[in-house]
Amino acid sequence: VPAESCCPRCGAPLQPPNLMHSDYRCSLHGSVAPLQRATLPELADLPHALADAAVPVWLPWPLPDTWLFTGMRVAGDDPACIRATAIGLTGQGLSDGPSDLIIVAEEPGTGMGAHLAGIEYTDPGGYFLDESAVTKVHANGWPTPLWSLPVTDRAVYVGEAGGHWLWLIAWPETAWSVIHSDLHLIDLRDPQAPGDVPTGALMPRLAS
Ligand SMILES: [Zn+2]
Repeated sequence: VPAESCCPRCGAPLQPPNLMHSDYRCSLHGSVAPLQRATLPELADLPHALADAAVPVWLPWPLPDTWLFTGMRVAGDDPACIRATAIGLTGQGLSDGPSDLIIVAEEPGTGMGAHLAGIEYTDPGGYFLDESAVTKVHANGWPTPLWSLPVTDRAVYVGEAGGHWLWLIAWPETAWSVIHSDLHLIDLRDPQAPGDVPTGALMPRLAS
């Protein structure tokens, strides 16, 4: 694991495994899946590199107009133990200047999506109780309802696909429209996934 790995719930540096603990540990959150450095991988390599990942790697395909793939980040200390994935996209929202979209798939309890969303809880379950879904995406062809979370400086939507949390988080807040644009998500672990995806520079927000 590279030295840059940190806590997926708070971003703090981690204690590596030692004689007392077999896991990476955050001083605040205890045992966690270490969040790896952001990368800008060749997507054609992912089906092989992530064949054993436990969670999908969601990419909208086709990409929305003007949007580019701008990075990936995973939590887990080897390819067989990946518990969360994040894909970054940058493009044109409703506001002037670039907008960012991060799509997270994660096992419950991982906390990367909540950290990116800026909410206090690790999992979003409580937000589902009283509200109706506000939009949907298709995930591997399945209609997947999404709920909007009350966050002020960004747009946060969450749902569940295949037993994993699915988060879509966009900046600035006015970039919400891209999430309402009938996105069809494909899983980049699939060898049939396209390799020639338009790619930009690594998203600073994903790397920070
Ligand atoms: Zn932490």
